[in-house]
This record gives sequence, C-alpha cells and structure tokens, in this order.
Amino acid sequence: MKRPLSIRELGYGELSERARAIAAAGTRGHVHTTLPGCLITGSPRRAIVLEATDEGAVYGFFDDQPIEDRAKPLAILLHGADSVPDDHEALEPASAAVNTMAGRLRMGKGHFHILNPVCLANPNPGRWTILFEDVELGVLESVSDERPLADIRLVERLIYA
Ligand SMILES: [Zn+2]
Ligand SMILES: [Zn+2]
Repeated sequence: MKRPLSIRELGYGELSERARAIAAAGTRGHVHTTLPGCLITGSPRRAIVLEATDEGAVYGFFDDQPIEDRAKPLAILLHGADSVPDDHEALEPASAAVNTMAGRLRMGKGHFHILNPVCLANPNPGRWTILFEDVELGVLESVSDERPLADIRLVERLIYA
C-alpha cells in the first residue's frame, strides 16, 4: 500500500466511460469519493477515484463541488445496487465499531471509506476494511474477512444520503 495513490486525472465523462467499460467487460473495479485532505488522494480537492483493478490503474475526477451525486451511479454500476440502499429501506444492524464511526460522522468529525480486499488504499490487503478518517482520533478501522454487508449498506447510505 502506498498512499496517496498515484492517480491519473480525467474529466467526469471519461471517468464514467471507463466505469461503464469495466462493468460491461465484467472486470474488477470500484470507486471512492474523497474529501479535501483525504489520505487516498492527498489532494485539497474533492474527487471520485476509480480503481481499475485488472488494469492496475487508478483514475480520478477532481472538483471543488460535492461529487456524491455524480459518484452514486458509478458506485451502483460497479459495487452492485444491493450495496446502496434507498432511504426508506430498513437496514440490518451494523457492527458496534462502525456504529461508533457513524456517530462521529454525524458529529462532523470525519469521513468513511469502504476498502475491499484488492483496494490499493487498504492497509489490510486481502481483508475488508471500513476506515474512518477522524479529525481528532486519527484513522479508525474495522477489519473483517467476510464482506460486511450491513456495515457497507450503512456507510453507503451515509455517504450518498
Ligand atoms: Zn478519506
Ligand atoms: Zn479502493
């Protein structure tokens, strides 16, 4: 793992095209949304980061405006609709650690990342990591071997709310 990631900057249209191509080809890829100062980008700007795992390439669209609405269709495309619940859906309980992080988020104390086993930003390669960058507490992690679906759904809802 080497952070910040080495990111090739693209326009939003080009980034969307690459995400669609990955989904159409059935190869591996995922997206992150990042805030200014995020450890994934090290950038003062917001970004949508697209990891094209099978290409070994990382692309980014950078902007100063909130990018979550533009990231959401790409997340659904690449992560599956089941990971992004709609606002009215009841959720299975998340883990205690992730609930604690969610409480910090609601206090405005930081932001989340969901890092899958092949994610280049994952400090625990081969495992799932829910990572929270807390402005006061530093980096918090919840690590698991299995895909933590209840945690992912809570975090995706918070990110894309
Ligand atoms: Zn971050
Ligand atoms: Zn990643």
